[in-house]
Amino acid sequence: MSKIKLLNNAKKFCEDKKYRYTKPRERVLSVLLQSEKPMGAYQIIKALLMQSKKVNPPTVYRAIDFWHKHGFIHKVESLHAYIACAHHPSHQNFCIFICDQCQKTEEINMQSFTNHIPLDLTSQQFHITHTNTEIHGQCSQCYYN
Ligand SMILES: [Zn+2]
Ligand SMILES: [Zn+2]
Repeated sequence: MSKIKLLNNAKKFCEDKKYRYTKPRERVLSVLLQSEKPMGAYQIIKALLMQSKKVNPPTVYRAIDFWHKHGFIHKVESLHAYIACAHHPSHQNFCIFICDQCQKTEEINMQSFTNHIPLDLTSQQFHITHTNTEIHGQCSQCYYN
């Protein structure tokens, strides 16, 4: 999905759900959409300052929480950073590939994830609500150079 389309989806989501599509929310999401690498809150604030935007850190933190809660961004736990969701916000199972050298990330949808778990585990012993898998390695560019 294109970045413009993802941003438009987010805007539409806010309109439909009657959430305010505030400037800080819009800016935080577009910074993450423009970045190929995961960004922590501090890096997002720095990027906004570099665009000479007015930045109020608590507002940025709240905007991050807002998008995270609604699935438009994902937390990369191992890096304490965030990436914009590359897919539809409604998916629950995804997998993030992280290049340890350049930190480029690739997100893939894992709709079929639960198919690979033994049936007795999913039906009787454990009920899965969501998954967040992170796979570390090297992207092809870093690997071959
Ligand atoms: Zn996603
Ligand atoms: Zn790389």
